[in-house]
Parts: sequence; structure tokens; C-alpha cells
Amino acid sequence: MVALVMPELKTVGALIVWARQSLVRAGVSNGAQEAAWLVEHALSVRSHQLVSHADRLVSPAVQACIESLIARRVAREPLQYLLGTQEFCGLEFSVSPAVLIPRPETELLIHHAIEHVQRLSNSAIVDVGTGSGCVAITLAVRLKGQRILAVDRSPEALEVAQVNAMKHGVRDRIEWLEGDLLSPLQARRAAGMIDVIVSNPPYISESDWAGLEPEVRVFEPRMALVGGEQGTEFHERLLRESREFLVPGGVLVMEMGAGQAPIVRQLAERVGGYRALRIIEDAAGIERVVIAQRME
Ligand code: GLN
Repeated sequence: MVALVMPELKTVGALIVWARQSLVRAGVSNGAQEAAWLVEHALSVRSHQLVSHADRLVSPAVQACIESLIARRVAREPLQYLLGTQEFCGLEFSVSPAVLIPRPETELLIHHAIEHVQRLSNSAIVDVGTGSGCVAITLAVRLKGQRILAVDRSPEALEVAQVNAMKHGVRDRIEWLEGDLLSPLQARRAAGMIDVIVSNPPYISESDWAGLEPEVRVFEPRMALVGGEQGTEFHERLLRESREFLVPGGVLVMEMGAGQAPIVRQLAERVGGYRALRIIEDAAGIERVVIAQRME
């Protein structure tokens, strides 16, 4: 007689306990909560329904999926890449390692870009370094009638952004341009035509990057993070290059890192052509957004 070896099936409850212990032991902060999210993701059940599934036996395939997700998280892969999504301004964005994971402080950019165009009827907005597309797409969803352009130098990022735009029904509302900062605008004869240039550029300094947590340093695209020795290389280039494209009175709205406001101020003075900068603090009190208005 042939003895059949049955794989040992585990319950949802047992897997959650194991997942939680693995993440907490590995020092993942918020490990208990993340374990639940990852198990829910593998089981395709909604948040907070896990309790009612606790005694359910899990198939070997799903168990392997849970084990692999937990192993990847123990190796510090960001939760959002494992789940495949991140929320931004109340909208869900797909994310992959080709794009930076949207951060809550970036929502400030949206507020200030909208504040500027609200008074205008036909305006044009460019999102430079669109990444996942979170900024350009949120603007397209919230604003009607404005022309919106999204630029990125990474074709892989543009693909992710267009998937997101399709998900939110605005793919055709946005012009997608591949290239370095504002260079794709040259061919579009956009000189003096843009009302708002908005950007969350890479702004981590080389030395700060080396000390980042592994989730960011190892897994998020370095290209989207590092902005030269001081982290302000792209702010300087954007200040320089935007003047040609902004209408008089148009604004350049950029995100920046803690402590960079004085450097950006100096850069703007050296570059010239802008009114006194407006600096806006985020919820943590960090000077996070700079608004430079082109002189009339
Ligand atoms: N604009 C995108 C975001 O805000 C990407 C920014 C970046 O990759 N530096 O998330």
C-alpha cells in the first residue's frame, strides 16, 4: 500500500500568529498591524474580516504566498510594494519599485498648486518628476479644464503613472512626456505658457541617503531620492529652468527636505527673476514646500 503524505494545513489564525511573531521579532515597527494587512492581502479578504476567518484552513498555495510576503517584509521590502498600493489624497495609487511611494506631506503640493490656478480659467500645469503620477493625477481629478502635463525621465515610472491615471479615468487628460526636468517642453513651444510648475524632486543629500532606513535606501529608486551633495541640485535647476516656461506671475511649487529652506532661498536669490519666496510648513512643523512666483 502507498502511504499518502498529506501536507499539513494551517488555519488563518495560526498563520496570523506566526506572521505577527516573525515581523515583530525582525524589528518591523507596526509589525502586528502589517502582519494582518499582508495576510488579508494574500487571502483577498477585506480589512477587519480576518477574525471571522480565523478557523478557516488555508490551501498550500495561499500559505506559500503568505510565507513569501512575510519573508520579503522581514528583509525590509516596503509594505506598499508588497501590497502594490498606497493612498494619496484619498485616491489609491499602484506602486512598484520603479516609483517612489507617495508620502502624506506631498499632499501640500496639491493644495498650493490648486490655490494658484483656482482664480485662472485656462491654465497649464506641469508636474516634473511625476513618479507614480500621484500629483498630476490628483490635480487632474480635482481640476476640470486645465491642461496638465507630467514629465519623468524614467519610462518605467511613466508606465506606472499611466496605469494609475487609467484607474482614475484621467489618462487622456494628462500629456505624458519622457525626459529630464523641463527639457520635453522645449519641443512643445511652451515658453512663457505655464501657470504652475509643481515638483517633488529628489532631495536627499548623498550623505543622508547612506543613513536611510533599508526600506527606502535598498528598495525605493535612488533616482527619485538623491538630489546631489546637498540635496538641492534639482531645486536649483528647476529655479533656473522654470523662468523660461512660466507666465509672468506663474509659480514654481516644490517640495524640499528639513533644513533646506535657507539653501533654496539663497539659490533663488542667485538665480533671480522671482518674488520673495513663500515657505510652507508641513504638519510636523518642517519647512516643506517652497513657492517661487515669477516676477511680472
Ligand atoms: N511626484 C512623485 C511623488 O510625489 C514622485 C517624486 C519623486 O520620485 N521624487 O511621489
